Amino acid sequence: MASAVEQLKEHLAEIADLRRASAVLGWDQQTYMPPGGGKHRAQQLATLSRIVHERFTSETTLRLLDAAEPEVAALPETDDDRCLVRIVRMDYERARRLPNDFVANRARDAAISNQVWREARRANDFASFRPHLAKMVDYARQTAEYYGYQEHPYDALLDDYDRGLTTAEVRRIFDVLRPAQVELLRAIRERPEPRTDFLYRDYPEAAQAEFSLAVAADFGYDLSRGRLDVSPHPFATSFGRDDVRITTRYDRHFLPQAVFAVFHETGHALYEQNVSPTLDRTPLARGCSNVVHESQSRLWENVIGRSESFWRIYFPRLRERFPAALADVSAEEFYRAVNRVQPSLIRVEADEVTYNLHIMLRFELEVALIEGALDVAELPEAWAARMKEYVGIVPPDDRDGVLQDTHWSSGSIGYFPTYALGNVLAAQVYATALEQRPEIGPALAEGEFAPLLDWLRERIYHHGRKFLPQELVRQATGRALEPGPYLAYLRRKFGALYGL
Ligand code: ZN
Repeated sequence: MASAVEQLKEHLAEIADLRRASAVLGWDQQTYMPPGGGKHRAQQLATLSRIVHERFTSETTLRLLDAAEPEVAALPETDDDRCLVRIVRMDYERARRLPNDFVANRARDAAISNQVWREARRANDFASFRPHLAKMVDYARQTAEYYGYQEHPYDALLDDYDRGLTTAEVRRIFDVLRPAQVELLRAIRERPEPRTDFLYRDYPEAAQAEFSLAVAADFGYDLSRGRLDVSPHPFATSFGRDDVRITTRYDRHFLPQAVFAVFHETGHALYEQNVSPTLDRTPLARGCSNVVHESQSRLWENVIGRSESFWRIYFPRLRERFPAALADVSAEEFYRAVNRVQPSLIRVEADEVTYNLHIMLRFELEVALIEGALDVAELPEAWAARMKEYVGIVPPDDRDGVLQDTHWSSGSIGYFPTYALGNVLAAQVYATALEQRPEIGPALAEGEFAPLLDWLRERIYHHGRKFLPQELVRQATGRALEPGPYLAYLRRKFGALYGL
């Protein structure tokens, strides 16, 4: 007779398979599905979501958990099985709070809403999307009530993306970042702008894809276990550590868009490809949380991929692919151009100095929507007002304003703050890596990424979801999440770039 832990793992493995199958359907929905397929896909995703929820919240899970707990109690705290039982118990208690019908309806309406958003964004038509968004906000408020919360309903939503994160903690960090980043932006705006004309020349998509994917492979993305496709909003998704996919979108006349999206998603993919194989087919076989995940995409995209040493090595290779467009450009000029600080409308194209301001805007709007202080109909105006206040510009239409992100369309409210906190954690993780392994810095200067990847694998990737986010951050960096290293990184890098 198999042990209770083994029986629990067998039960969870089937649920894991169903979740991965949902992920395949979701990936296809964003990449290759024809527009007409939306309704079928919504039904299929709803069915899978319902089965997953029913199975996971079943009496079987409870019985197996109860039996497994005493079996693992004497194991070391870092043992895979002990971590599994602990995290699954938390997941179980949380998931039980959502009724099955509610989960199924939410998944169905989210898929429809996402489909409508895709059309609305294309047509710059907020009005057609508005009722769907209102529905998603209602679902989020109901979700918070089902989950319960201590201080703020938004805390319950944050928990889905970074367990233990609170509205108060987000505010505490944002209150340190906001004045510092606004001040840095103001100082930079008084300095001369770098040359950027060459970024808008002709860059055929196929060559963009080849270059980006070659860099991704150099970072350590294993292409025998991954692939790159096109979607309206770039993302990474895992069907298991041996099939981790990324997407990007191309602008033939703006090179950075696709290239840095690939670097970004590669960071996510490196994390997923390097989760310990001993965690396969368990709920721990993925990244720890959104904040930790985003710290890795930002580390590879920005800290590495927008660094001076990186472009010293890679600019000549880029110029080989685009000899005409880059004939009169130096590596130094290219480095300065891809780090230009400029208020912009689109979050995913924002530079490192203004990016978090886009997030603070969304965070505040989300909190207001959840509190009921703001109506969905008022969003475009509220958006414009905050854009003016924080970033200094106003979107000419909703496509470049409130319709630009996919998150709200599928009900992902509470997600945005994790992007900014990911930036913060990226700097903290990177500073720790350089401190603990002095060979990492010189290796990066030679275009060798393996020592950094090894350290990250060992300290973060390998553990998957075995620990809570705060625990993992403390284990990996020796400290809780703090804004200091990030502000130091920004001031050092942009101080040098702009001669401040
Ligand atoms: Zn990301």
